[in-house]
Amino acid sequence: MNQSVMPSYGRTDVAFERGDGPYLFSDDGRKFLDFGAGIAVTALGHNHPKLVTALTEQAGKLWHTSNLYNISLQQRLADRLVANSFADTVFFCNSGAESVEASIKLMRKYHSASGNPQRYRMISFEGSFHGRTLATVAAGANDAHRAGFGPTVDGFDHVAFGNINEVRHAVSAETAGIMIEPVQGEGGIRPADPEFLRDLRALCDEEGLLLMFDEVQTGVGRTGKLWAYEWSGVAPDVMSSAKALGGGFPIGACLATEEAAKGIVPGTHGSTFGGNPLAAACANAVLDVLLEDGFLANVLKMGQLVNDELKRVIGDHSNVIESVRGAGMMWGMKCVVPNGDLVANAFDHGLLTVPAGENVVRFLPPLIVTQDHIHEAVGIIDACCKELES
Ligand SMILES: *Cc1c(COP(=O)(O)O)cnc(C)c1O
Repeated sequence: MNQSVMPSYGRTDVAFERGDGPYLFSDDGRKFLDFGAGIAVTALGHNHPKLVTALTEQAGKLWHTSNLYNISLQQRLADRLVANSFADTVFFCNSGAESVEASIKLMRKYHSASGNPQRYRMISFEGSFHGRTLATVAAGANDAHRAGFGPTVDGFDHVAFGNINEVRHAVSAETAGIMIEPVQGEGGIRPADPEFLRDLRALCDEEGLLLMFDEVQTGVGRTGKLWAYEWSGVAPDVMSSAKALGGGFPIGACLATEEAAKGIVPGTHGSTFGGNPLAAACANAVLDVLLEDGFLANVLKMGQLVNDELKRVIGDHSNVIESVRGAGMMWGMKCVVPNGDLVANAFDHGLLTVPAGENVVRFLPPLIVTQDHIHEAVGIIDACCKELES
């Protein structure tokens, strides 16, 4: 087998050559309904005309200058993210892991700048995923992501997802902050109880800790609000974003309050590419669409249809799928059969889904799907269930 691409992935044997809205077309002539969206990335589907225009127009003007100079499109993007979130300030990078890494560094630096350099440890959660860099695999809960890559970066204490007493007990004089996904994505679409997020906020306020939400997967409209934290009624001090932010063009962002970011001064952190003109043009175009009146309301409405329809189907096939959970356009089907069997069967029927932890199959449709796309996808799941139970 040709291994010129390093075999870090077990790949499905297909290559796509063209996309159109929620559909992908493979080079061997097959058509797929893409309810994986490149793992919650292509939120506006493929080849969205506004994204294509934004990218190609910018490509004809200017690609990259570095962050040694002002970048007006990056400034505009930051202004809009600030205007539409809890944050006062934004750092740009190129991926989810980098946005989490920046968040961790910012939280440590905050305490150091506050005269408490001994506060460097983060509390994170069982089932969590925060990326694949050395610090983010240490923050995440997956042992396989750390095995053989030691020594593991020090400073992460894992507790049960949803248990405020365990969190309280884990706080020490060395704790800097708490990091959590409002809905665990890779872990199996496990939504945090809004009450739990409020308890974390209160605990952080009591103890002088920073609260960080990893919204790399949940953010940018995925749960039907621009940010998933809006469901909880409390805001974090720090938040990571990436995946859908550029609609498929790589860009990440660490958003923070002015206070939380007070240690980040010139020379403390950086990125060569972060928020370059091409990436910022794409992300601005994504926001143009997402912030249009009624766009997110429609995501919620369509998301509810996904939930209702999946629940109707699994009612008849509880020996294949036992439950559905999630929010907005982020749904997980907890399987009875191995989740890989459902993913493979759906693929054979022309539907792309994504597996996750806890034997879950993820539905992460682009946010632009219509009733017809949803009925088509759920019809395929119905057909898969019939095949898998026979
Ligand atoms: C995908 C993901 C990451 C990592 O993003 P990359 O772009 O792959 O580095 C981090 N946190 C969460 C919650 C994610 O879903």
